[in-house]
Amino acid sequence: MAVPNPNRPRIAYFSMEIALEDGIPTYSGGLGVLAGDMMNSAADLGVPIVAVTLVSSEGYFRQEIVAGKQVERPEHWDPPARAQRLDCKVSVRVGDHDVWIGAWQYDVANQSGPFSPVPVILLDTDLPENRPEDRELTHFLYGGDSTYRLRQEIVLGVGGVRMLQALGLNITKFHLNEGHSALLTLELLRQRGAAEARGTALQDAVTAVRRRCVFTTHTPVEAGHDQYNYGLAEQWIAGLVHPSVLHTLGGPDRLNLTRLALSLCGWVNGVAQRHAEVSRALFPGYEVHAITNGVHAMRWTAPPMQALFDRHIPQWGHEPELLVRALRIADAEIVAAHMEAKQQLLQALANAPGAAQLDPARFTIGFARRMTDYKRPGLLFSDLQRLRAIAQRFPFQVIVSGKAHPHDEAGKRHIASLHGWAQELGSVVPVVFVPNYRMEVARCVVSGVDLWLNTPQPPLEASGTSGMKAAMNAVPSLSILDGWWLEGCDEGATGWAIGDDGGDANQHAASLYDKLEHIILPTFYERRAEWSFVMKSTIARNGSYFNSHRMLRRYVSEAYWN
Ligand SMILES: *Cc1c(COP(=O)(O)O)cnc(C)c1O
Repeated sequence: MAVPNPNRPRIAYFSMEIALEDGIPTYSGGLGVLAGDMMNSAADLGVPIVAVTLVSSEGYFRQEIVAGKQVERPEHWDPPARAQRLDCKVSVRVGDHDVWIGAWQYDVANQSGPFSPVPVILLDTDLPENRPEDRELTHFLYGGDSTYRLRQEIVLGVGGVRMLQALGLNITKFHLNEGHSALLTLELLRQRGAAEARGTALQDAVTAVRRRCVFTTHTPVEAGHDQYNYGLAEQWIAGLVHPSVLHTLGGPDRLNLTRLALSLCGWVNGVAQRHAEVSRALFPGYEVHAITNGVHAMRWTAPPMQALFDRHIPQWGHEPELLVRALRIADAEIVAAHMEAKQQLLQALANAPGAAQLDPARFTIGFARRMTDYKRPGLLFSDLQRLRAIAQRFPFQVIVSGKAHPHDEAGKRHIASLHGWAQELGSVVPVVFVPNYRMEVARCVVSGVDLWLNTPQPPLEASGTSGMKAAMNAVPSLSILDGWWLEGCDEGATGWAIGDDGGDANQHAASLYDKLEHIILPTFYERRAEWSFVMKSTIARNGSYFNSHRMLRRYVSEAYWN
């Protein structure tokens, strides 16, 4: 473990979830993967950051499929085996008593440069000095009820600030990755004497905190933001600020952590251009910048494609912008590297139910992400008759994966429906559901399929990142025009749009089927040179841009240095 240099000024990056490596289940989906990619880029580029999160020692959950339905199991991981315990404890007031917090350090190593690793501080309340119910606070990511969530957020936000100080780190800015960590702003206010302050003294404290805080919002609907009624909030959040101040900063009716973050962060951004527009409309009066997400090029590129880039585009890992040169690579080499990734995917899936029907020569569609209503996992299957008819002309197969949050009944119904449709379609359109979606699975699927499908209900896909991972691997997208795809879609060059900007589910389904049948499948099977061009320009145009090195450089120059 590297001891972080205490004198070096650093950014503190707070995130409820972060995807560090295979086997550490401290994430649930895109938000955590983004945080992990960002820290990997920081390690590669030598940006001085320290990340703060919860240890989530029982993980999010491990998904099993029993008779076509999701069953959730704990997914324990062993912090001592992967991280170093720090000799440091802090306490925070949670309700009517104090909770002690310990910490682990995990180092994100750099992959393409000479810089020191990025420390990740994992907060842990499972200490003998705590009450049993407090020891569980850092066990389950997004587990329990809203009280559990609020108490976790006190540990993350307030405990995180105190831990960084106890470790002696010199923090210049606090970056809130989504609103879960927003309570850290109240701790910063308290330290400025705001608990008793009024009038201009309070205003000065708010201004000082705003100067130090950066907020990235990820949720384009009001209902998606963490909110608590003030009775509950005041019961648990004790002694930080006066209740009247909390009401002013946290929204009129309920404590809304996004509103709190907007009130106390001087620099705010959405995660794609459209998402920033939607956020401005949702929260009038706030300046919301746009920094479109990106993915870590080396983390998400399959080994055969990495080897190809190493040969033709040296330094691509350090400077993914160089992928713009992908058009110079010979068609046959791209096709061969992708075929190798496809074979590796089919091998990795060998034990999944139905995988025996998969054929590497057949066109393969991938759809994998959190299973929740707005992602509309059923859109592809809305007309099974039409699907069968298309498959009779041009055979194709589908690989699906994704978890539903344990409380998301609609998401769970989608998983059951997918299994039902897979049965109905049988061998006419083989559909394989890969259980327990996670980074290892994502890496195989995004690189081994021929087409990446995304069907969210606009404008609910703030950004989306799995299509960016696919692009790094020469896999074009067929997607709804929402989130990053409004920026990344070059029709016929990086993939295809489903419908126009807008439209309803029927129009979307019709467009999806039409493009598959009349454009995409005929190109794949009958116009191979054109298909190779699409593969290469997907890397050149989107791999070169939608990467986390570019994203981090923008955060540094626009948010951190201001
Ligand atoms: C990339 C990734 C996601 C996010 O995918 P979206 O397309 O943004 O929904 C979710 N889960 C895992 C495991 C991932 O790797």
